[in-house]
Amino acid sequence: MQKKDDYRALEARYYMPAFTRDIMLTRGQGSKVWDADGKEYLDCVAGIAVCSTGHCHPAVSRAICEQAKKLIHCSNLYYVPGQAELAQKLTEKTGMTKAFFSNSGAEASDGALKLARVRTGRKKFVAFTHGFHGRTIGSLAVTHKPGIREPFEPLGMARTFVDYGDTDALRKAVDSDTAGVIVEPIQGEAGVIIPPAGFLEEIREICDKKGALMIVDEVQTGMGRTGKWLAIQHTAVLPDIVTLAKGIASGFPMGALLAREGLEFKKSEHGSTFAGGPLACAAALATLQVIEEILPSVPGKGERFRAGLSKYTPRVCGLMIGMTVGDRCGVVQKLCAERGLLVNCAAEGNLRLLPPLVITNDEIDKACSILGEALG
Ligand SMILES: *Cc1c(COP(=O)(O)O)cnc(C)c1O
Repeated sequence: MQKKDDYRALEARYYMPAFTRDIMLTRGQGSKVWDADGKEYLDCVAGIAVCSTGHCHPAVSRAICEQAKKLIHCSNLYYVPGQAELAQKLTEKTGMTKAFFSNSGAEASDGALKLARVRTGRKKFVAFTHGFHGRTIGSLAVTHKPGIREPFEPLGMARTFVDYGDTDALRKAVDSDTAGVIVEPIQGEAGVIIPPAGFLEEIREICDKKGALMIVDEVQTGMGRTGKWLAIQHTAVLPDIVTLAKGIASGFPMGALLAREGLEFKKSEHGSTFAGGPLACAAALATLQVIEEILPSVPGKGERFRAGLSKYTPRVCGLMIGMTVGDRCGVVQKLCAERGLLVNCAAEGNLRLLPPLVITNDEIDKACSILGEALG
């Protein structure tokens, strides 16, 4: 305990207090993590949908170590080992045509907004209430949550928010100067909010009618999280632009932007020093291979959670699980942690589970039983 108290004091003195936290994790393996005192937890947060292949998957760790011995960085002034192969694999799995890499989800959102503006020649965006797309100045402009956005206004982006699920309002909001509509197929930070049936199809139709691009933010829902490579693949909708990050490289920082035929950045229109570097690409290529193997098991695992938590009417899509708990959310999160289970309170009393995709049936049963005790 002494160790953690010392660390807390060190942080309080030298690190900006932007986070609320109490646990210090020092090691992970599969779906388990251990804190500085050696206490074991079953991890149903997975770095917020990042560690989908589990912690330190041997194939991913090996790929990173091997690449780190060959070439860590080289700059996008040169061909980057792994970059084109990764672009090929991601586009093939998602029905998109070309890729461009970034270092985070927010940067992928920024890239998507830039691409939509430059290719349509239009200025404005429509986004949705309770949506989250990142915290850079660009991505924050289309992120709804007033608490994190308003202190930084004006954000210099013409943008309208429409209620998530309200297609009548969307139809009115999209006009001839709308470059794009940006949407999460399931809202993650809002607490796993699944839109009404037909919503995504209607966005596609409205965008087509008005000549706006449909940007689907799959930063949280993508990379197998919902049982398909993309959540939008549960529908027949083909978006114009898709963004990815979180689960793409098992925790190595990376984001991606995928675009359909005919949409791409031309010379000098976009770039980044670190984006799509050799280490990130190696981590992502290994991650893709692991996810490929476990993807067929994801829907069944989600249904096992649904059955185990049925008393609490969970919202489930693959291994993206939300439950409305209300004011007790923080207490439940703490009780779970005491009992060795990590879960997280997303917005407005919504408890969220985003376990590694490699979680086992026994671990799912254990998570449900601990949650049952904590929820009472
Ligand atoms: C996490 C998240 C982002 C931002 O990703 P960062 O890597 O934190 O910048 C964007 N969109 C969605 C849907 C997310 O869940």
